[in-house]
Amino acid sequence: MKVLIVEDDQVTRRLLEALLKKWGYEVLSTCEGTEALEELEKPEAPNLVISDWMMPGMDGLELCRKIRKTESSGYIYFIIVTARGEKQCVVEGFEAGADDYLIKPFDREELKCRIQIGKRIIDLEHRLTRLASTDALTGALNRRAFTEKVEIEIHRATRENATFSFLLADIDYFKKVNDTFGHQAGDFVLQKFTERLSSCSRPYDFIGRYGGEEFVMCLPGTDVLQARSIAERLRREVEDMSIQPADVSQSIQITASIGVASFRLASKETVDSITMRADEAMYKAKREGRNRVCVGNNR
Ligand SMILES: [Mg+2]
Repeated sequence: MKVLIVEDDQVTRRLLEALLKKWGYEVLSTCEGTEALEELEKPEAPNLVISDWMMPGMDGLELCRKIRKTESSGYIYFIIVTARGEKQCVVEGFEAGADDYLIKPFDREELKCRIQIGKRIIDLEHRLTRLASTDALTGALNRRAFTEKVEIEIHRATRENATFSFLLADIDYFKKVNDTFGHQAGDFVLQKFTERLSSCSRPYDFIGRYGGEEFVMCLPGTDVLQARSIAERLRREVEDMSIQPADVSQSIQITASIGVASFRLASKETVDSITMRADEAMYKAKREGRNRVCVGNNR
């Protein structure tokens, strides 16, 4: 777990760094609040902050208030470590949004335990987030979580004048799989299909389950031509799969129809509008005989 230390006093900062490293944490450190905020806005930012109160520039309490006002991707556990030990200061620290408050000179063992409490809270939050955002059968993101991530992608693409693409893949004649081999085999097929989607994806792509046998993949930084070739590779790989559920005597072959759509900067694109174009393209692929890739209207 990553921890961010915000402390202007060099001796204390070094001591905290050394202790945290010894306790197995990955450590980042800064000497003032503004830089700390920048660190926290980066991807893979720390979830736990140990901050001094009195610092030049933005102080620890202001930093904490700012963090609480900003919407971040995960909860940030905030520990204040300060020489200000009066009761009213402690109260003020908690009112600013701190989770914990330690008075200098701090006891090392106590600090270690208090960081562990923070880690428990963060781990719990991660577990809950994962449960709330994924589809239990396939491990893909559920519709709500996927939509949220695409919204972030739309903001990013707009801000950076970039693009991203969207694949909507639907397993052909999936009802037949369920009817012929049973629902357990059907579930197994969905799991294998998701695995294949994910093996065709890059680390920053993400996959969601939209409906029964309908999956979506978001490809950041990918234009429509690249997306089409990824979709085509996926289509071929799905076609080549031989799925063997445990209680079924024969292996199951499937194919998929895939619709491709890319983000259009000029039009006021929303998650719904891009999904709709990918959906239209997917239906076109169905109409044209299935097991194929179609690209949505991108003008
Ligand atoms: Mg200080």
